[in-house]
Amino acid sequence: AAYFLQRISGAAELNAFVDLNEEQTMHEAKLADEQLASGNKSLLMGIPLAHKDVFVTKHWKTTAGSKILTNYLSPFDAHVVAELRGAGMVCLGKVNMDEFAMGSTNESSYAGVAKNPWAIDRVPGGSSGGSAIAVAAGLSLAATGTDTGGSIRQPASLCGITGIKPTYGKVSRFGMIAYASSLDQAGPMAKTAEDCAIMLNVMAGHDAKDSTSLDRAKEDYTKNLGKTWSGEAGLPLKGLRVGLPKEYFGDGLSSDVRQAVEAAIEQLKKMGAECVPVTLPKTELSIPVYYVIAPAEASSNLSRFDGVRYGHRADKYDDLLDMYKRSRSEGFGAEVKRRIMIGTYVLSHGYYDAYYLKAQRIRRIIAQDFQNAFESCDIIAGPVAPTVAGKIGEKVSDPTQMYLEDIYTLSPNLAGLPAMSMPCGFGDNQMPVGIQLIGNYFSEAQLLQVAHAYQ
Ligand code: GLN
Repeated sequence: AAYFLQRISGAAELNAFVDLNEEQTMHEAKLADEQLASGNKSLLMGIPLAHKDVFVTKHWKTTAGSKILTNYLSPFDAHVVAELRGAGMVCLGKVNMDEFAMGSTNESSYAGVAKNPWAIDRVPGGSSGGSAIAVAAGLSLAATGTDTGGSIRQPASLCGITGIKPTYGKVSRFGMIAYASSLDQAGPMAKTAEDCAIMLNVMAGHDAKDSTSLDRAKEDYTKNLGKTWSGEAGLPLKGLRVGLPKEYFGDGLSSDVRQAVEAAIEQLKKMGAECVPVTLPKTELSIPVYYVIAPAEASSNLSRFDGVRYGHRADKYDDLLDMYKRSRSEGFGAEVKRRIMIGTYVLSHGYYDAYYLKAQRIRRIIAQDFQNAFESCDIIAGPVAPTVAGKIGEKVSDPTQMYLEDIYTLSPNLAGLPAMSMPCGFGDNQMPVGIQLIGNYFSEAQLLQVAHAYQ
């Protein structure tokens, strides 16, 4: 842990970490050392990790990238934080993210933009940008992330690491500051699929404190690693049917990313996989549907930040209403305000049916499209993002353009499906590219199996 803390201070210009607590880190490391000395050799004992600043932590501040939570200290740990510590992992600190996980570039963070270790003038992706940087730059061996519409997969892709968003309900959201509760899901980010599987074993599982947590038996996500798809000797992926949605390889995809993803698909074929064309006809609608539902839920979730119970409170105000107004105006950034406005609008009387209800209906169709596709394939493969990481500042002035780039990652969240990103080469400017694998409900072990075979 001391070694990693040193690396973190040496890489301060990446702006990956937003809070450190050396004393607590070294305390956790000491406890892990004692366990190791007494013969407890469990896999994660003493392994350092970083937590996205959206998970509440007792010993580190939790700001969710927002001014409104400046200096906030939680009286308890998020479920995921407690479980990973229980397994022996040592927390190095909290990492940067877009404000309340809204964004794809880490530029909406109150702590300032975090930088892509592959090129310091480029964004790391978002919203789990700090998590991806920490792993990619060797500042930590693993990190937690959250994914509402791509926030684990997209930064993983842009920084050249592996990350998985599990099936909705697999990982408890208790203590994870809510963005859009029906889409939010936590997952591991690490160098390899194997590392992700080992972490997911600890993170996933039923938790009574989250009403959407699935009450299913614990699973071993490493159980398929190294096994052939068919279970018989021969090519590792023989019998695997990989669906290629034509909507994922259309005009919007830049040629360098296309090349890297197609090369990875060729590799899967060499390993025995068979590719089948599939269609996800409502892919394009995932953008308007997501950008109605996510802001709607966000506007409701963020109403708790009122300056009364926690977080920033305006210095000067006339009365209670004025205090709410000023605290929220000062505390939230531009992107968050934009989404609160959109969300409030689509939920308002008179517009609810036209926007929110319609979006919910199309959401159902999007989920059904995946089920149709999974009749002819076992997993779906495609790009994660249409381009490699862009330059810092390039897109801040055009939020709609930024929303459009979420095209390949939003639908799995809308459907609640597991999906992951793993590195598959490099595109323009020697920037990393990831390939996305999407599976049916509860197929995490299979996704990780394919990724592990490829890696
Ligand atoms: N980029 C998407 C958004 O801004 C997804 C973010 C996320 O998954 N948290 O909402």
